[in-house]
Amino acid sequence: MSGHAHEGRLIVISGPSGVGKTTICHALRGRGRIVRSVSATTRAPRPGEVHGRDYFFLKREDFIAKREAGGFLESAEYAGNLYGTPKDFVEEQMRDGNHPLLEIEVQGVTQLRKQGWPGIYVFIAPPSIDDLRKRLEGRGNMPPEVIARRIQVAEEELKHKDLYDFTVVNDVIDRALAEVLQILDRNPFRRE
Ligand code: 5GP
Repeated sequence: MSGHAHEGRLIVISGPSGVGKTTICHALRGRGRIVRSVSATTRAPRPGEVHGRDYFFLKREDFIAKREAGGFLESAEYAGNLYGTPKDFVEEQMRDGNHPLLEIEVQGVTQLRKQGWPGIYVFIAPPSIDDLRKRLEGRGNMPPEVIARRIQVAEEELKHKDLYDFTVVNDVIDRALAEVLQILDRNPFRRE
């Protein structure tokens, strides 16, 4: 089903792991009619993550049952874990004229595009792959093989920029955030 009958539109923020998507999404929260969509995942919570706030942490079998029941707008497997956007929440919010903010990886974006969901699709890109590697290393919590794998995935993701309406290079976070805000301001979003 397509979302064209809805008043709200999606704001989709995507890009490689480590690029700063989460920081940008945090800053967008609560602006105008933007509401963050909380995804479901089968990965284990990281220290500090809260069920229902950061993710809905589901057992694999429960995730699959929900997926089979058509409970997700899109879903994908990433680094061995399943991720999905709960459909009810997003549809409800769009019906109410709100704009669900989705922070998702590229397979999910492909599915949303195929289904024709209206929205603004933004790709956050690193200045370079080398820069991305340094950022992932700087997090200090990933073994070298995990970093190598994420870099490999990032190189793949960078090939799909054509899925997006805009690409924002995150060189300096404040500048990148300002650019995202400008993009949203220039596009027809209902504000109140
Ligand atoms: P992480 O495990 O680091 O929180 O997330 C891994 C990747 O999965 C990130 O690129 C994140 O944006 C993406 N992701 C999170 N939730 C979803 C979702 O509901 N659907 C899809 N397709 N990707 C998601």
